[in-house]
Amino acid sequence: MTNSAIAQNLINGEWLGAADTQRMNPARPGKLAVVSPSSSAETLDQAISAAVDAQVGWAEMPMPARGAILITAGNLLFERKRAIAEDLVREEGKTIAEALGEVGRAIDVLRFFGSLGWAPTGEVLPSGTPDTTIYTRREPLGVVGLITPWNFPIAIPAWKTAPALISGNSVVLKPAELTPMSATHLARALADAGLPAGVLNIVHGKGRIVGDALARDNRVAGLSFTGSTAVGLGLHQILSERRARVQLELGGKNGVLVLDDADPRKAAKVVAAGGFGLTGQACTATSRVYYTPGIRQAFLDALAEEAGNFAPGDGLEHDTKMGVVVSDNQFAQNQAAVNGAIGRGATRLVGRHDENGLRFSPTVLTDIAHDDAAVREEIFGPVVAALEVADYEAGLAAINDSRYGLTAGICTDSLATSTDFARRAQAGVIKVNRPTSGLDLNVPFGGVKDSSTNTFREQGRTALDFFTWGKTVYTGI
Ligand code: ADP
Repeated sequence: MTNSAIAQNLINGEWLGAADTQRMNPARPGKLAVVSPSSSAETLDQAISAAVDAQVGWAEMPMPARGAILITAGNLLFERKRAIAEDLVREEGKTIAEALGEVGRAIDVLRFFGSLGWAPTGEVLPSGTPDTTIYTRREPLGVVGLITPWNFPIAIPAWKTAPALISGNSVVLKPAELTPMSATHLARALADAGLPAGVLNIVHGKGRIVGDALARDNRVAGLSFTGSTAVGLGLHQILSERRARVQLELGGKNGVLVLDDADPRKAAKVVAAGGFGLTGQACTATSRVYYTPGIRQAFLDALAEEAGNFAPGDGLEHDTKMGVVVSDNQFAQNQAAVNGAIGRGATRLVGRHDENGLRFSPTVLTDIAHDDAAVREEIFGPVVAALEVADYEAGLAAINDSRYGLTAGICTDSLATSTDFARRAQAGVIKVNRPTSGLDLNVPFGGVKDSSTNTFREQGRTALDFFTWGKTVYTGI
């Protein structure tokens, strides 16, 4: 273990906290990945106080100067990219290629939001009164709380922190317990880039202690959360009761509709990339696929073949195509979901499990009922349920018959059908002939139904809306 695999709290510019909690490498039984503090609510209280004290000065710094710090932090991450990606693999389990891509995303996110330091922040509008000008301003919320999950342990903290900071907020970040190091690297880059003390604070620890206290503290004006639906809905209640702003990105049960006019090989690649890439551990992962009768055999044959390209292994070995499952708990959940479906009559077209090193092969379930739990509930593993539908309308209805609405996909050669699908599918992101997972950083992201708060979108310029409030100024002479 190198020194870098010690994650500490960052409070008022100081690295603090006894790193007393061990996180083992999920791919290498018995090998330590990182140690981090399990912080108390008192420690969080100090971090919030530091954020309160730092916020006004930060907001008064000219926006281009704030942006320059973000860009410098992005450049520092770029210099440290390989080492950070290796730490990420050790704590999370994805492949090194995926980890390098994710650190690359964090770099781009910092550069993108840094560049917004030079972008317009409001509008000038005509007034009906002579000699009067009207303009709009965006004001920071103040102190914002960020709670992030383990599956994108540096990209998600980056895409919440960067828009919060460029908008003039100070931040208290609570990263996931399983992956404390990646977010610590982000905080380190920002601190090294010259971010003033207290503007970004990071507090490691348990969700129900640190996360819960962050949500309840009246000094925290807004909370952005990505994680499980159950926890998110509880946080929504806490934040709503104290009338603070809340942004939630929760679960998904993302479906792809494969029509007879699609190329079966291309469709199989789209479904495999969305379902098995990132070990299926993405809220945008494909977990349901519906096909029309004419493409059934060719598509399922191609999907089974594609699944063979995703053999799981240690992400640090360069020929590994799919990383391991993040934890014993998640592995057990995947196994229970698959075995439960098989017990109810489903067929496992491909897939097997190896608990030693948490290797869970891509799994495709067929002969499965529309109302089976494996078709309706999020599994968060490389498991795709494949079902036949009579035609496009039946497939669209099946896609929409879900409590979730994050992403939805269609594979077709018909522009007319895909355009109709884009209009009628109930999801925040629509993918035509592209995997349901995989997002660009400069465009809005978020879902409907139980997938998101469906108010403020993340990513792109839209991300600034959550972290600011609008003011309209009338100026006369
Ligand atoms: P996952 O299944 O991705 O671990 P969680 O919702 O449990 O989803 O975790 C996402 C984030 O929410 C983590 O940082 C976790 O520590 C935090 N968290 C978990 N429980 C709570 C809670 N009761 N209050 C606030 N945050 C929580």
